[in-house]
Parts: sequence; structure tokens; C-alpha cells
Amino acid sequence: MQNLFLTKERIEQLLEQYGSPVYVYSEAILRQKCADMRGLLGAENSHVSFSVKANTNLSILKIARDAGMYADAMSAGEIFLCKQAGFAPQEIFYVCNNVSADEMRYAVDQGLVVSIDSVNQMRVLASACPGARAAVRVNTEFGDGHSDKVVTAGKKTKFGVQLKFMQEVAEIAKAGNVKIVGLNQHIGSSVQNAKNYEAAANVLIDMALEFPELEILDFGGGFFVPYRPEEEDIDLDDLRAMFVRLHDRIVAEHPNGANISMRTEPGRYVVADCGILLGTVEDVKENFGKTYVGTDIGFNVLARPMLYDAYHHIVLPGHEGEQEQTVTVTGNICESGDILAKDRNLPIPNVGDPIVIQTAGAYGYVMSSVYNCRMRPAEVLIDLEGRDRLIRRRETIEDLLAPMLV
Ligand SMILES: *Cc1c(COP(=O)(O)O)cnc(C)c1O
Repeated sequence: MQNLFLTKERIEQLLEQYGSPVYVYSEAILRQKCADMRGLLGAENSHVSFSVKANTNLSILKIARDAGMYADAMSAGEIFLCKQAGFAPQEIFYVCNNVSADEMRYAVDQGLVVSIDSVNQMRVLASACPGARAAVRVNTEFGDGHSDKVVTAGKKTKFGVQLKFMQEVAEIAKAGNVKIVGLNQHIGSSVQNAKNYEAAANVLIDMALEFPELEILDFGGGFFVPYRPEEEDIDLDDLRAMFVRLHDRIVAEHPNGANISMRTEPGRYVVADCGILLGTVEDVKENFGKTYVGTDIGFNVLARPMLYDAYHHIVLPGHEGEQEQTVTVTGNICESGDILAKDRNLPIPNVGDPIVIQTAGAYGYVMSSVYNCRMRPAEVLIDLEGRDRLIRRRETIEDLLAPMLV
């Protein structure tokens, strides 16, 4: 787990200046994580596509691009933001699922390769966009992840084309003059088992041998990020060795091997550690023998604990080393499920104290909502010189009226 990159004084200054709650990102950590991921793929024409659904702030996207990343987009909105951030069409890979002909046309008109996820979706692409360049998302029947909700391959998910349907997909593509230039997969998020990743990658390579004109082979993202202090970082050297093995095999066995661009598409690894969420303790109370620490960080601001029972490490700056007690940390949304941390050992804070939620840069702000008409927070970037800069303003209650027709 990343060490907290701000002092208590700085945290108080940021809360004072930008209001509470607020997401804060470290450009230095973001760049380090981009470098880590790029370092895994040695080959010159290999690319790391940042899966932008993890964090779509324009400033974050621009830094990722500047740090040499490509982008993985999953919706017209994400394509739009990637283009705004300066990604060129060949740098954006469109991995979609259950989309309309219109959305495919939008992506193809922008010059993107569209990754197709089913037999029928290939039919839609072939009829809407004859001549398109496509990839196929293969379900190699290996799945992995931190929660059943994020396992994205294998026998129990909606994703990908099962191997037995690949032939049919290829025939539809051929008949519709769609060129299959890529194969991709993504087995899940926070993949714990590199053996699963490699086994799945090898099945993808087996399939790739059936496509002699292939240009892109994308093994997916999902690299594990430690959220708990006792968890260890992934072993980058081990992973690098694995990608060398995969690359050697592609070059040795595939007719276009030397020209194939090997890709990965990490989201969480790139942005989780660079982001923290600052909030304020608004209440401390006892209910039937349990102590509740009430904060202004509702699940509309950070959904992961509620959605996946996810653990986020919590720090109460200034209380380090104090006597701890078992408490439940909650937000300010009117639902009993609005819990940030259940039965966590923490010092007892005072009302008005800052509270820090760590490892919040991935699937944090992007999953926020205005449920309960509580507006989304601001986002602030700490740049390489250590200066803070507002990169998204806090929403105001007047923003509630913008899309409403009366
Ligand atoms: C979400 C997603 C990713 C990124 O997953 P992480 O666990 O954030 O690395 C990559 N590829 C696809 C297709 C995805 O849906």
C-alpha cells in the first residue's frame, strides 16, 4: 500500500481551500505507475492501454497519455474524453459490450478498432460498418478477480466470445468485409493469480494462430493492487518475465509475430494508488453499544465499500499511535448500507477532524453520483512541483437544475 503522500497540515489546507470531501491525486505516483506498467512489456511495438473507466478526469488522462499510455474506452463518452485528452485514433481501443449500431458507427467514424463481444455484435458491425477494422474479445474460460462482480471471463459471465463460436464470428466478419486485426481478453479485476493470467494468455495465443493477419493481441488488465497495509505489491519482475515468455511465443509461432502489437489494459493499477479521498468527521456516537464515526463521505462519493464490501484503508491524521477502538465508519446518506468501514480498529476522532481514505484513485470519482442530492466532490492534482491545482470543481446544488425541464 502506498504511503500517505500528504502531511496533516497539507490535508487541512486542501480541505480548507477546496472544501470537503475532495479527491486528491499525486502526479508523481501516477507517472510511476504508468512507468511500472510500460516496463512490463519490453517489445518496441507493445503498448499499455489505460482502461479509462477507472478514472476519466481529463487531467489524469492527459498525464497518462504524456507518460506514454494508450487508452481503452468502453463507451462513446469515454471515446469523447480520450479524444479531448489528445489520444489519437490508433491509440484508443474500443472494448464494448451490448452496444447499438449507432455507437459502433461513432467509434468506426473516429477511426477506432472496435472489439466485438458476440456473434450478434459482429453481425451488427458488419452491417453498420462494412470495411471496419475489428478485434474480437475472446472468453478463454479463465476468470479471476477480487469479487464475483468483477470476474469477467469464464463460465459465469456475460463477456467475450466462447471459443466454439469464434469460427462463426470470423465467417460473419469475412462475409461483411470486416477485417479482424485484433484479439483481446480481460479475465477480471485484481487478478491474484498470475498463473491464471498466463494460462489465459496462452489460450489467446493459440486462437491467434488461426488469424494470420493479426496486428493486436491484448491480454487484458486486472493487475492486483494492495488495499490493506499487510498486502504485498505484485511482483513486477515476475510479470515482466511472463510477458517475455508470451512475446517469445508469439514471435516464434505466429506468421505475423514480429509485427504484432502486444497489449495490456490496466485500469486500477494505473490510478488506484495515486488518489486519496479527504473528508471530515461530522459525528461520533454510540448506538446500542457500537461506536459510529459519521463522515461526509457517503456512498455517493465512494461506492466501492457498499458495492463490493471493498476495504479502503482509513487514516485519522494527528491520531496516529493513539489507543484504538472498534468502530464503524459511515457516510451521510440516508441508507443503513452507507458504510465505509465496518468494525475497524481506529483511534476515536473529534468532530471536525479530517479523515483520509486511501487507494481511492480507481473506481472512485467515476462511480460517484448525486444520490440524496448530495453533489459530487472536487478533484485536485498535486503536480510534480508539489503545487495543488483544481482539476474538477465541486458540483453545486444549482447543477441539479441543468438537465431538468419544467
Ligand atoms: C475494467 C476493464 C479493465 C481494467 O481492469 P482493472 O482491474 O482496473 O485493471 C480492462 N479491460 C476491460 C475490458 C475492462 O472492462
